[in-house]
This record gives sequence, C-alpha cells and structure tokens, in this order.
Amino acid sequence: MAQADIALIGLAVMGQNLILNMNDHGFVVCTFNRTVSKVDDFLANEAKGTKVVGAKSLKEMVSMLKKPRRIILLVKAGQAVDDFIEKLVPLLNTGDIIIDGGNSEYRDTTRRCRDLKAKGILFVGSGVSGGEEGARYGPSLMPGGNKEAWPHIKTIFQAIAAKVGTGEPCCDWVGEEGAGHFVKMVHNGIEYGDMQLICEAYHLMKDVLGMQHEEMAQAFEEWNKTELDSFLIEITANILKFRDTDGQELLPKIRDSAGQKGTGKWTAISALEYGMPVTLIGEAVFARCLSSLKEERVQASKTLTGPQKTQLAHNKESFLEDIRKALYASKIISYAQGFMLLRQAAMQFGWTLNYGGIALMWRGGCIIRSVFLGKIKDAFERNPELQNLLLDDFFKSAVDNCQDSWRRVVSTGVQAGIPMPCFTTALSFYDGYRHEVLPANLIQAQRDYFGAHTYELLAKPGEFIHTNWTGHG
Ligand code: NAP
Repeated sequence: MAQADIALIGLAVMGQNLILNMNDHGFVVCTFNRTVSKVDDFLANEAKGTKVVGAKSLKEMVSMLKKPRRIILLVKAGQAVDDFIEKLVPLLNTGDIIIDGGNSEYRDTTRRCRDLKAKGILFVGSGVSGGEEGARYGPSLMPGGNKEAWPHIKTIFQAIAAKVGTGEPCCDWVGEEGAGHFVKMVHNGIEYGDMQLICEAYHLMKDVLGMQHEEMAQAFEEWNKTELDSFLIEITANILKFRDTDGQELLPKIRDSAGQKGTGKWTAISALEYGMPVTLIGEAVFARCLSSLKEERVQASKTLTGPQKTQLAHNKESFLEDIRKALYASKIISYAQGFMLLRQAAMQFGWTLNYGGIALMWRGGCIIRSVFLGKIKDAFERNPELQNLLLDDFFKSAVDNCQDSWRRVVSTGVQAGIPMPCFTTALSFYDGYRHEVLPANLIQAQRDYFGAHTYELLAKPGEFIHTNWTGHG
C-alpha cells in the first residue's frame, strides 16, 4: 500500500491545484472526492505523470496515509465540511490531523476544533488565498486551530506557500481555534476595501479629470512603481488597457453591478459585533450593495440632480498625484482598521496573534499582496505591542505627507458629486481618531435626557450621574 504524505479531499479547482502544487514540492498526495469518478478523471488528465494517488473510498484513503495522518478538506464551505468530518472521525486515530482549507466561517472552525479536540483529533482551519493561480504556484496560507498539529504540517505548508523577499514563506501559525479563518475573513474584507478605493480613484480620473483609458492605465502603471505597488493596482492597469474583440475597450461595456460572496459582509458584521470602527470595509460592502441596485439607480438618475457642472480649477498632473496620495492614505486607514479588528478578536477569544506574521502572510500569494504589507510587518516588528498602525512613525509620517492631497480630493470630489464612500470614511475616521474631544458628550446628555441612561463627568470618571434635565418631577 502506497504511503502518502497527505490526503486532499475535494477535486474542484482549488483542490486540484493545491494537489499539483504539493506534488511539485515532492509530497505524495492521496486524493478523494464525493463524486468518486472525478478521482480517476483527475489521475488520467491533470495529474497524469505525477506521484498523486487516488482512493475510491475514505477508508482506502486513510489506509494509504503515513501517521499521524494529515487530511486536507477543500470542499464547499458549510455542511459538506461537517459531513466529511463525521465520516472521517471513526476512521482516524488520536493525533491524526484534519485541515479545513475552505472559506469556512471562523465560528464553525472554533466549534469543529473543540469537538475534535475532545475526540483526540487535531483540527486546523486554514485560510487559503490567491485563487486558482495561488493554489497552483504558491498561495498565502493562514493556518489556525489546534497548535499541536503545526509541527506536523509546517514543512508541507511552508513549502507550497508563496515566497517573498529572500524566500520567506507567506505562511505561519496564526493562532488558536478559528483564528486562521478569522484572519482570512479580514483579509477578504480588506480586499473589498482595496478594490473600492481603486474604483473611486478610477471614477475621479474619469469624471473629474476626463482621462481616457490608455491614460488611466498609464497612471496605474506609474503608481505601481510607488508605495502602491500591488497586485490589484497592476491588474487594474491591465484591465483599463484591455480591448474587446471589436477593438473597443472592454471595461465600459461591463455592467456596473458588483457581486459578492459574503466574506466582506462577515468582516463588517464582526466589526459591529466587537464594536470596532472598521468603517472602510463596511462602506466597501455597502458600495457593492448600492451598485447592485442598477435598475433603481437608472430610474433615480433621471430625476435626482447633482451639482451644476462647473469647470474645476485643477492642474491635471497635480490632482492626479493628489488622487494617488488620497488612495495611499485611505489604504493605510483600512489596514489600521483591519488590524484593530484582529486585536479586538484576539482579546475577545483569548487568541495570541502574531500581527507581523499576518502581514507577511498577506505580503505575497494573495489578492491583497503588496509591498506596503512589508511596511506593516516592519511596524509590528519594531513594536509587537503597537496599538494602532497610525501610531507607528512610518505610517504617521506617510499620512502626514498625504493629508493635504487627501483633503483636496475629498472636497473636490464632493463638489463634483462623485461618490467616494471609502475615501471619505477613511478621512472621517482619521479625523475622529486624532481628536481628543468628540461631540459624544452631547450623545451622552441626550441619552440621559430621554432615557435616564446616566453619564460620566470628565472630572469624576467611573461615577455615573443622572440629571433631571427638564426640572419636572
Ligand atoms: P467549491 O465549488 O466550493 O466546492 C466543490 C467541491 O466541494 C467538490 O469537490 C464537491 O464535490 C464538494 N462538495 C460540494 N458539496 C458537497 C457536499 N454536500 N458534500 C460533499 N462534498 C461536497 O470548490 P472550490 O472553488 O475549489 O473551493 C473549495 C473551497 O475553497 C471552498 O470553501 C471555497 O470557498 C474555498 N476557496 C475558493 C477559492 C477560489 O478561488 N475558488 C479561493 C479560496 C478559497 P463534487 O465534485 O462531488 O460535487
């Protein structure tokens, strides 16, 4: 019987590519799939000539594995994961490892981790990012769960992960229970934010500066040589240049109604749940919701008016640089907010998160990969206890350097009637965060006025007072 290093269940696009990646790195993979015929198809086609082996049943698959057994599930998130776990448990021994590499909800991962721990099985929930291409040639991997599993999977995970710099793998242990999937969820939320920020820059270039596609593509190409150097800026330049079969640009022909699968929404829900002002990701999710009301917007556009068209007095070149800086500053806010949420979740669940390591995991292999993440890693290396990215010297001076431009872009865009939910919320957050005094004293007074909710005096912290505001009984 073959002695496979690891098993992978789920022969859809992600599973197939991850298997071939593991095979490239010298690991013998045994595969199984619910629709068993897909195993033979895969072995006869995509995996032809490799060392990959297949199993016709879970029992056969388990019998082919070295101990402790390592089994990756890459199946549809939700019930399919629970179903496979239930079938696998009776076939496994204490110390065997089940890894869920799908986009599972972090609370499900925590539940599975606890249930399996009680049965002696080590469970890992790992974020896998980078889509099909990443799975094949180097994803960003974010494993969390039962840490006893880590020494047994580290070599394989770090071998197949994307590499940055001098070969540092974009994979490290994230933390306990659902931490890996939580970090992956926040990654996806940040991806929503990054994409929306680029869209707002594109909107301003197009409608305020009247730039053509070639020109915009060139601008993004130039930006990709600056602090904004990233996968999403790079592909945006390529998309703007792309021509349809009729020779026309493809982008303006695409229906302006954005889809979503839910991980951005989950991030925003978690932010609300744990009371963290992750406003930029929230706005990015809502911007997609608004975009999808296409018919309603078409109707509204016939009735609702915007500002009078006035010639905006701007030097095109300098305003373009303003937009770049507004994008950079807003992006810093988004990541600062994302890390605030991670910190809060860590406190909530008692996880020990390695923030610099998380930045490194996102540095390559995934959709939000960028040079910028290296700076975040440096900031957490300088100070692992850093309370907020904005308080790091590098990011503080980066925002200082951008803020005049950022304010010009927001005020110009508002005057021109351009929706910029993420540029504006980022700036409002920045202004809120840097204010020693906010008008929430009035909220407290109002709450006490109508609901006797009490308030604290600055001079007497911890003492809650109610005032009879109306003088009535
Ligand atoms: P998928 O379409 O999400 O799932 C298909 C796989 O799940 C197939 O192997 C299918 O088996 C199995 N499956 C579906 N329902 C099942 C059930 N009720 N019981 C047992 N097996 C079931 O595949 P994918 O796109 O490769 O993604 C796999 C996982 O990775 C998902 O959690 C996804 O969210 C996550 N992910 C995907 C991407 C991406 O770019 N696609 C990126 C990162 C993470 P059959 O062949 O028998 O139908």
